[in-house]
Amino acid sequence: MPKSVIIVGGSIAGLLHGIYLKRHGANVIILEQDPNPRRSSHNAGICFGPSVQEFLRLYNDTGIQACQPAVVTRLAYRQNLYWRDTGIVRHLTSWGVLYRILRANFDGLASDAVTIPPPARAGDGQCSYLPGQRVTSVQKTSDGVVVGYLGEDGKERCSVADLVIGADGLHSTVRGLLNAPVVKEYSGYVSWRGTVCEAKVSPETARYFQDRTVLSLLKRTYIVCYIIPPDSGSFAPGTRLINWVWYCNLSETPETNFAELLTDTNGHLHANTVPSGLVRAEIWKSHLAHMLPLIPGPFAELFTQTEQPFITKVNDALCSKATFFDGRVLLVGDALATFRPHFALATEQAARHCLGLARVWKGEISLQLWEREAVDHAIKIWLGSRVMGAGLLRGWVEFLLLAWKYVVFFARSKLGWNRV
Ligand SMILES: Cc1cc2nc3c(=O)[nH]c(=O)nc-3n(C[C@H](O)[C@H](O)[C@H](O)COP(=O)(O)OP(=O)(O)OC[C@H]3O[C@@H](n4cnc5c(N)ncnc54)[C@H](O)[C@@H]3O)c2cc1C
Repeated sequence: MPKSVIIVGGSIAGLLHGIYLKRHGANVIILEQDPNPRRSSHNAGICFGPSVQEFLRLYNDTGIQACQPAVVTRLAYRQNLYWRDTGIVRHLTSWGVLYRILRANFDGLASDAVTIPPPARAGDGQCSYLPGQRVTSVQKTSDGVVVGYLGEDGKERCSVADLVIGADGLHSTVRGLLNAPVVKEYSGYVSWRGTVCEAKVSPETARYFQDRTVLSLLKRTYIVCYIIPPDSGSFAPGTRLINWVWYCNLSETPETNFAELLTDTNGHLHANTVPSGLVRAEIWKSHLAHMLPLIPGPFAELFTQTEQPFITKVNDALCSKATFFDGRVLLVGDALATFRPHFALATEQAARHCLGLARVWKGEISLQLWEREAVDHAIKIWLGSRVMGAGLLRGWVEFLLLAWKYVVFFARSKLGWNRV
């Protein structure tokens, strides 16, 4: 078990690892480039898999409800709104609620969702969450690993630790500094996203989305909707949000004007996401004018009622190595692998990495085995989400090609031929 740890990135993966380590006596510093400690979600939902639920069962001392199960997954096909109901149960919440619960457990941050944070447990290590600190260098020395970072005040500082965890997301600085092998690609489609308070839509529309995940399968475009709490964590009916994600094809051709699409109301060009509230009205209006006639009633109502939709250019990334400097630097969460979001497994992957490392620190498995499992799992989900995206959005040729790659990968795994 490391005694001192620096975690780069204070989002979901960073906080999960931070909580586990401090609860087991390590002294943990989280360095987060975002200067705002009370961060808000992109107003979009996240899904809890079994590892997130297991983590919260063991380490969440707030007693706050973190998610709500959607008991049915409904499929709508073209104009048929009630095509199929499946028994798939998904546990859903918002990023903001999970972040607030994790911060309350990590460093006792009080928020609208967790007004009274839990006290530290006996044996907890010391911990601090430092916002506004952008990591710029990582170097191995005889004393450990030295991390250099630039503060909001323009001052450069450095700290040393036994272990450094890179939990810094899709565009990971740590991964770049280590020259780690990575494949990063644009998917060929964008996602529009937004939320509408369930009290703002007609009673019929509210009823249609209640307690369900709904997938609307249209021609080369599809929509996913489900109920999430606002960042304050209220699950009371009438206060919740209907969250929607609308995937639309947008191939990268010389005619595609991404600069136009990703330039916000202040003239700033974003790499991937134009955040909620900053999308230029004319971009959303022209998208709606073009697509709305194809969209069935309840979904069209959500889109027209949404005040601040936002857009993301969907990318994925896969790194084939998770451990560096003899295991003193690790990559976890989206920094190791960012998936196209069709299965909503990003948070689950982060929790899985943490519970896997817990087994390493308890001496149950080796770090090499953890790395192999993490990379194999990442490839499986990375390929699987590409297959699903291609099937629903990109057409048969791309779908069959990716499905074939997936089958080959699966067969090689069974034969034990996939090795880091
Ligand atoms: C503010 C925010 C809101 C989000 N909202 C949603 C949502 O509503 N729905 C959803 O599905 N997903 C959301 N995500 C993404 C989601 O958290 C991840 O896909 C998933 O949970 C895995 O998390 P992660 O911690 O590995 O990566 P991320 O969540 O991407 O976190 C990476 C963190 O590292 C920080 N960072 C990056 N570079 C540096 C550096 N050089 N120095 C210091 N810090 C650095 C980033 O600021 C970020 O906080 C959000 C992410 C953020 C940061």
